[in-house]
Amino acid sequence: MGYLVLADIHANLQALDAVLAAAPEYDAVLFLGDLVGYGPNPNEVAERLLALPNLTALLGNHDLAALGAIDLSTFNPVARFAAEWTARQLSPESREYLAALSPRLDLTDVTLAHGSPRDPVWEYLVDLDEAEPNFAAFTAPLALVGHTHVPRTFLVTDGAITLPPSNAGAVLNTASGRAIVNPGGVGQPRDGDPRAAFGILDTDEETFRFERVPYDVGETQERMLEAGLPPSLAARLSYGL
Ligand code: ZN
Repeated sequence: MGYLVLADIHANLQALDAVLAAAPEYDAVLFLGDLVGYGPNPNEVAERLLALPNLTALLGNHDLAALGAIDLSTFNPVARFAAEWTARQLSPESREYLAALSPRLDLTDVTLAHGSPRDPVWEYLVDLDEAEPNFAAFTAPLALVGHTHVPRTFLVTDGAITLPPSNAGAVLNTASGRAIVNPGGVGQPRDGDPRAAFGILDTDEETFRFERVPYDVGETQERMLEAGLPPSLAARLSYGL
């Protein structure tokens, strides 16, 4: 099976469309949460995602914020502004769809979590010392996470956890050990590369491939400014930060 692995689309329709155009053939889609928040097209992105074949989707912290389900005092001011804007924009259909999702799902051979296996809504899984307790929080050979918007792999081989390359074009052999993999963010990358990030999991080849694709950042920024979203949120897309 080939899986298109997406995370953190954040209502960025240009980025999502570029990824869908660039993705090789796949059988199913795994989306790791944060469909909305920050970006200008929450309902269009929801419609696009829902039309994809064999979709499994998670709920992210920004989706919860847009649903009014969490206290926004933990968000920084611009993220909060965008969350409140998104809440006003969400159609009843988008709202109903998001409200039915969960931030963690345990499938047969893979665990999906927005943040981390042990704290699927909030934890940013960045460092090696956070990886160890998270490997103890699921039993599958592989976990896929999002939330940081930074591509990353934690791999356990011979009892040690390493960080294999996760840059564009890097390929992880998923049979080489238990792994936690973050494909990076589609709609708001934060690793200094403004291109949309995604991954391809091939369970026959036992590989996970990290991919990047450029998109029309200027168009997304224009739509954000027209919508009255904070200019700083538009500007960061140019830098991938
Ligand atoms: Zn996010």
